[in-house]
Amino acid sequence: MSNCIFCRIVRSESPANILYQDEDVTAFRDLHPQAPVHILIVPNRHIAGMAQVGPEDTALLGKLFVVARQLAEREKIVDGYRLVVNNGPQAGQTVFHLHVHLLGGRALSWPPG
Ligand code: AMP
Repeated sequence: MSNCIFCRIVRSESPANILYQDEDVTAFRDLHPQAPVHILIVPNRHIAGMAQVGPEDTALLGKLFVVARQLAEREKIVDGYRLVVNNGPQAGQTVFHLHVHLLGGRALSWPPG
């Protein structure tokens, strides 16, 4: 989508600190980090959110989480990290391109707000 900020980052049309990219997914640092490590892992293909995924996306969704695990190792936060997917405005979703937050590097309280 031409006006989607994450699509623009995937296509290198907007600046981002990209940590990983392959033919399916891109990972980059969050612009407003909520923890010492805060990375977003997104599908390259535009999917607005969890409400739009189907069985055909099973492998892609799995890959988002595998890449998140690899980045957690690279960032040395394997002692404790959190993967978050906000879906819908009431859950705090502000960018309507599916993304997994990888948060770590500090103690994380539960439940989230
Ligand atoms: P959410 O609230 O779950 O939709 O998360 C959207 C996240 O995207 C927020 O944590 C924002 O800080 C982050 N964000 C928005 N624009 C950018 C950008 N241009 N580069 C990196 N992160 C961004």
